[in-house]
Amino acid sequence: MMKEALQMQNIATDIQTDSSEVGYAFDQSEFWRTIPAWRDVDAETFGDFRWQQQNSVTSVPAIQEALGELASPALIADIEAGLLKTPMNVRLTPYIFSRINWENVETDPVHRQFLPLGSQFIPDHPNAMDDSLDEDGHKATPFLTHRYPDKALFLPITLCPVYCSFCTRSRVVGGSTAVKSKSTYGAKTSEWDSTFEYIRRNPQLEDIVISGGDALLLRPNQILHIGKTLLEIPTVRRIRFATKGVAIMPMKFTSDTEWMDALSGVCQLGRARMKEVALHTHFNTDREITAWTAAAMKALSSTGVRVRNQSVLISGVNDSFGCLHRTTKKLSSQLIQPYYIYLHDMVPGCEHLRTTVHTAENLSRRLQGSVAGFNTPRVVCDAPGGGGKREISSYTLYDREIGVSAWTSPTAKPGEMFFYYDPIQCLPSGGSRLWLNKAEITKRLAKFKAEATAKAEATRV
Ligand SMILES: *Cc1c(COP(=O)(O)O)cnc(C)c1O
Ligand code: SF4
Repeated sequence: MMKEALQMQNIATDIQTDSSEVGYAFDQSEFWRTIPAWRDVDAETFGDFRWQQQNSVTSVPAIQEALGELASPALIADIEAGLLKTPMNVRLTPYIFSRINWENVETDPVHRQFLPLGSQFIPDHPNAMDDSLDEDGHKATPFLTHRYPDKALFLPITLCPVYCSFCTRSRVVGGSTAVKSKSTYGAKTSEWDSTFEYIRRNPQLEDIVISGGDALLLRPNQILHIGKTLLEIPTVRRIRFATKGVAIMPMKFTSDTEWMDALSGVCQLGRARMKEVALHTHFNTDREITAWTAAAMKALSSTGVRVRNQSVLISGVNDSFGCLHRTTKKLSSQLIQPYYIYLHDMVPGCEHLRTTVHTAENLSRRLQGSVAGFNTPRVVCDAPGGGGKREISSYTLYDREIGVSAWTSPTAKPGEMFFYYDPIQCLPSGGSRLWLNKAEITKRLAKFKAEATAKAEATRV
């Protein structure tokens, strides 16, 4: 009774904290001026996408140069050590760089997303995979992953304006690093025809996701070319451009008029044909939301594009109800519809950023009912091995002690079973000890898989 009352009180406090921000006063300050190198940069300069591109921070010396006296030698050494272990290169826009609280980097949720510290790394899970979602295994053309019956994923570019430590496509996005060589590619219009032709020849494809990499780096004529070509295919009903831009370079949407004209043109064409044109963006915390976001959304709204958000659930970044709830409410207030929160994929080099199915399920339970239904993000596990996105509570079986869950995928992969593994450092001590004993864990996993298979058989619909 007592415990329940306390829990209720916690919920009430969380919600109270949020409603004190009912006016949604976003940061309007010139926050970038706390970065020594940008002390004298005025709002007009900071608000120009070209300045943001040209001043992006892409190396350790550039970090040092920007921070000056704010960069302690120990911090720089820790970042350098991190870069020897990560599959992702360094790239931050000045906007996102100055959302980091540089006085307290160890616990900063923005820093944690973009700049890995050597001291934070832990070994990968033995079952981590470069291509955790088996996107390459489902390739219909060199640029198109076709996993689901009526939707497909087009990857015209593998460059981004920022590089995230947790990127699910670290195998190809953003160029080689000390530990990973990759064949990153830029946008080449002439190479896309076979992909468009495939979509034309597969009339069941109604939804096309244009991702990467990041659509923000597609040139205006490429946005128009892709948008027009796809919308002119009679059987394509909806397209979405995926870009982290709104979260990391909101000034693109207020200062790159050519790019915005191209997007507007595609939206107009969509409206004329009763087809949906959407932009899917990627905020993970409300620290990324400022007055610049509001200005970007005002500009985007006038094009008629529908904007949705997809987050990754990241340990130490947004794995609390308070953060997810605040982010959900603030995004909704800006006409950004919270769409998905992904359980972190099982990719290498970011084990310290993953969390468990159990945590994700609890967060999902608390989010439900806390905001309007249509603004409630769906917490999903993209089942490793290509099972596709599955509701977090829809696993067939879950052994929390050794952190393994079994998933079926009756539509994308009927008859198959997929397994997600929680990070070993988050398991109860008995469970993490079992992973140290190869024979024991193999036996326990075999038993789990047999039980899961039997249960899936018994409950097949
Ligand atoms: C996520 C994804 C899609 C789109 O799925 P939605 O659930 O409609 O967002 C399509 N193809 C692939 C391969 C995907 O990973
Ligand atoms: S913006 Fe997206 S594709 Fe690019 S590095 Fe980040 S997660 Fe990966």
